Amino acid sequence: MAIRKILRIGNPLLRRFSDDITEDEVSTKDFKKLIRDMFDTMKHADGVGLAAPQIGVLKKLVVVGTEEDPGRYKGAPEVPSQIIINPVIEPLTENKDGFWEGCLSVPGMRGYVERPNQIKMTWRDEKFNLHEETISGFRAIVLQHECDHLFGTLYVDRLKSPKLFGYNEEIDTQGKDLD
Ligand code: ZN
Repeated sequence: MAIRKILRIGNPLLRRFSDDITEDEVSTKDFKKLIRDMFDTMKHADGVGLAAPQIGVLKKLVVVGTEEDPGRYKGAPEVPSQIIINPVIEPLTENKDGFWEGCLSVPGMRGYVERPNQIKMTWRDEKFNLHEETISGFRAIVLQHECDHLFGTLYVDRLKSPKLFGYNEEIDTQGKDLD
């Protein structure tokens, strides 16, 4: 088990574009270890998802999953554990859902973001098999948040309003009038 350090907002690596992963790469020992480390790091940090750039690896790799640990999004639906390589997301609707999003790279804070509530995602799994799926609801929101990391975008770039952002404790205790 290897917990990797999660980079925080301000680190320029979080603002870079990640590279596509090749078919040769997914079968290497190093890549399999990277995937294990990402799951270990995500679970240790109580996250629902983690993108490789968050641990300083500029590759198009995301892991998600809440099955073993509901973590920070209590009451939110479960997100099945999944390894996502080279994802491409296309919104299928202009209808949006708003969530108070958090991010392991912006610890202790959250902000209100609206995103399309139905998407088509194409991606490769850890065996480099190609998948395509129409996804809606909470899982669609999580996947959009994570895939944004592969393009140097953080949720704070997408706040509905700069006012709808702050420290968790302040929002929990004082922020009832927000939103
Ligand atoms: Zn994030």
